[in-house]
Amino acid sequence: MKYKRQREEMVKRQIVARGITDEKVITAMRSVPRHLFVSEALTDQAYGDFPLPIGEQQTISQPYIVAEMTQALQLSKKDRVLEIGTGSGYQAAIIAQIGYRVYTIERIHSLLLKARSLFDRLLYHNIITRYSDGTTGWADESPFDAIIITAGAPSIPETLVSQLAVGGRMVIPVGDQHSQELIKLHREKDGIHKTNLGGCRFVKLIGEQGWRE
Ligand code: SAM
Repeated sequence: MKYKRQREEMVKRQIVARGITDEKVITAMRSVPRHLFVSEALTDQAYGDFPLPIGEQQTISQPYIVAEMTQALQLSKKDRVLEIGTGSGYQAAIIAQIGYRVYTIERIHSLLLKARSLFDRLLYHNIITRYSDGTTGWADESPFDAIIITAGAPSIPETLVSQLAVGGRMVIPVGDQHSQELIKLHREKDGIHKTNLGGCRFVKLIGEQGWRE
C-alpha cells in the first residue's frame, strides 16, 4: 500500500505534471513496482525524482527519463522492441507492459542475472534477455519496431540503425562522457529522420560500436 501510494505521487508530480501524455506510458508507470528493481536499502527512495545506484557502478534511470524515452518510442501492443542496457530491468518491464515482446541485452553478467530472476518472479514472460555487447544489436531477431539504448553513446551505432524496421523508432543518448543529447530516429521509406529531445546524462555505452572500456 505504501509503495502504491508513492507510485501514484510519482506519476502525478514527475510524469503527468511534466507533460507526459501517452496513456499507455502513464498506466505502465502506475503498475510496475519500481521499488523491487533497487536494493532493499534503497526501496524507500525508489520513487524519488532521481536515478539510483544498482551496483557495478551502474544506475536505474530517473522515473521521468524512463517515461520520456518510452513515450518517444510511440509503442503499440504488437511492437517488438530491442533494449540495450538492461541494468535493473525497470525500463524493460515498463516496455513489456505496453509492447508485444522486449529483447534486452546487458554486458554485466551479475546485473543481467538479477534482472532475469525479477522478470521471472513478476511473470514477464515477454522479456527475452541476452548477455553480450549490445552495440552490435540482435541480428537474428531483427528488424525491430523500436530500439532503445539506455547508455550514452559517442555516436549512433550503424548496426543498430540497420536493425530498425521501416516505420521503426529509436531513442539514444549521444554525446561525450559527461552529458548527452537524447536523439530520436525515425526510419521511413525515404530515409532516417532525427529529432533532438534535449539534454540528458547517462553512464557510458561500452562496446565495439560504443566507448572503449
Ligand atoms: N535500463 C536500465 C534500467 O532500467 O535500470 C538502466 C540502464 S543503466 C543507465 C545502463 C546499462 O547499460 C548498464 O547496466 C550498463 O552495464 C549497460 N551497458 C553499457 N554498455 C552496454 C553494451 N554495449 N551492451 C549492453 N549493455 C550495456
